[in-house]
Amino acid sequence: TERSLVLVKPDGFARGLTGEVLARIERKGYRLAALAILTPTREQLAAHYAEHEGKPFYEPLVAFMSSGPVTAIVIEGERCIEGFRSLAGATDPTKAAPGSIRGDFGRDWGKPVQENIVHGSDAPESAAREIGIWFPSLG
Ligand code: ATP
Repeated sequence: TERSLVLVKPDGFARGLTGEVLARIERKGYRLAALAILTPTREQLAAHYAEHEGKPFYEPLVAFMSSGPVTAIVIEGERCIEGFRSLAGATDPTKAAPGSIRGDFGRDWGKPVQENIVHGSDAPESAAREIGIWFPSLG
């Protein structure tokens, strides 16, 4: 079955939304395959966000993502990559549909980075790559 890498980002972690995110994942019927709390290193973030290197929001994004603990989660289930992105909602939390994680808990805080509570892998190839970054033992 498919796996996806989910991060509860520093904003979500600091606001105590990890349990809420886990509850929605479980309520949807996806299984938890791995879970860890850690403060990301620059190296992990450079690998994770390689596709965004050079973009205007890249440095602020790395600074934000390394500003405190995150919860890294591997979820499992048929089509869970697409399914979790649907649970998460649109990248811009102002536009994310109510009922989604970002729609229910996110908003624009006027910062250079969209603080949008969660990350979810966007394709099977990126899921495999990202699981290898955050959980080398599962690689
Ligand atoms: P994620 O990868 O975190 O699930 P996503 O796939 O919806 O989000 P990406 O385009 O991969 O969005 O961007 C990664 C992250 O970079 C976003 O989640 C957001 O925090 C930040 N970001 C993306 N685009 C912008 C932007 N235009 N301005 C500020 N921050 C942005």
